[in-house]
Amino acid sequence: MRSSLPPLPELLAELVRRPSVNPMGRSDLPEHILYEHRVTDYVTDLLRGLDCLVERQTVQAGRDNLLAHYNSSSSSPCHLLFEAHQDTVPVDGMTIEPFAAYRQDGRLYGRGACDVKAGLAVMLTAFVRLVQERRPRSPRVTLALTVDEEHSFLGVQALVRSGFSHGRPDAAIVAEPTRLNIVHAHKGVIRWTLETVGRACHSSRPEEGINAIYRMSRMVQALEQYAELLRQRPADPLLGPRTLAVGRIQGGISANTIPDFCRIEIDRRLIPGETVADAEADLLAYLRQAVGEDVPFTLKTSHSPCPPLSPQASTHLVQQFGSVIDSVLGYHAVQPVPFGTDAATLAHAGIPAIVFGPGDIAQAHTHDEWVDLDQLEPAAEILYRFALQAENLTAVDV
Ligand SMILES: [Zn+2]
Repeated sequence: MRSSLPPLPELLAELVRRPSVNPMGRSDLPEHILYEHRVTDYVTDLLRGLDCLVERQTVQAGRDNLLAHYNSSSSSPCHLLFEAHQDTVPVDGMTIEPFAAYRQDGRLYGRGACDVKAGLAVMLTAFVRLVQERRPRSPRVTLALTVDEEHSFLGVQALVRSGFSHGRPDAAIVAEPTRLNIVHAHKGVIRWTLETVGRACHSSRPEEGINAIYRMSRMVQALEQYAELLRQRPADPLLGPRTLAVGRIQGGISANTIPDFCRIEIDRRLIPGETVADAEADLLAYLRQAVGEDVPFTLKTSHSPCPPLSPQASTHLVQQFGSVIDSVLGYHAVQPVPFGTDAATLAHAGIPAIVFGPGDIAQAHTHDEWVDLDQLEPAAEILYRFALQAENLTAVDV
């Protein structure tokens, strides 16, 4: 069997030195920093020779989910999933060298250091320790390192669609920066583009054309009223109201041309109990009633939606994981967050899921992204201990 991994700070530095930037729909980024394959190849190599099954699941060219499955021979019926994403956001405007993995004052700096290569490093470390030690009460564990979390959630969706070749896990821990606390709930998100069309002509004779911007202005006003209506509907006690906002508008080519085209981008946050399909149907029904048939428009989902993460299915998981955090750190918090995670897609597929990891979300995606190195060892220890103690996680207390 291959010897152990590098110490955690070194392992994290190696991950940060391998760019895995998600283009997030852009085409102006240099090829040599794009996509997750450098990280996937590095971790595949680290796992070589270990007594576990390693599998790569191609999601797009240069973008593979990496799955490692530890099939313990113990009698534990439990199957855990450790999930972390390999991608990072781009590096525009960073004030530090993004891939140098430079260390100072107990911090490691670089793109992805906090979100979420630190979380990936601790999951990998806990996983390898479980495989190497093969303790008698060890559960089965699948480590899934997914692609495209920062943009469209394609990696976790492919993982769920694959049906888990080694059986569906009973519970999932998803890595994101939570300062070693538990995140058990968040809103979901859908993004749409809405387009209106018109007929172009010279602006000296506007009556000969159809102004797509005027059409869109009616849509935007209707959306503002609809957003207010959504806020008045019953809010989630933990996460607050459902929201909608128009965040971008494009249309027209010049002041002297009647525009034949206008597009807006809409962001909608869902609360537990809402589905993506219902939210879209509700919006369409409102718009048709508000603007009538004389304003034709098209509404499209601009990228994969993220469902809301409800705390209901993870009650036992939160209790058990919390008591393990306490055994290592002496305290923990359980809290909702305002951002979406892969945990929601797993929970939606029937796998109770919570979010946990080193680092603070306040440092994620920033111009000088860093992570506190002191949180790495405790995080790996918590995951390792939890795996050895986990039981009855499928029971749901609703
Ligand atoms: Zn993340």
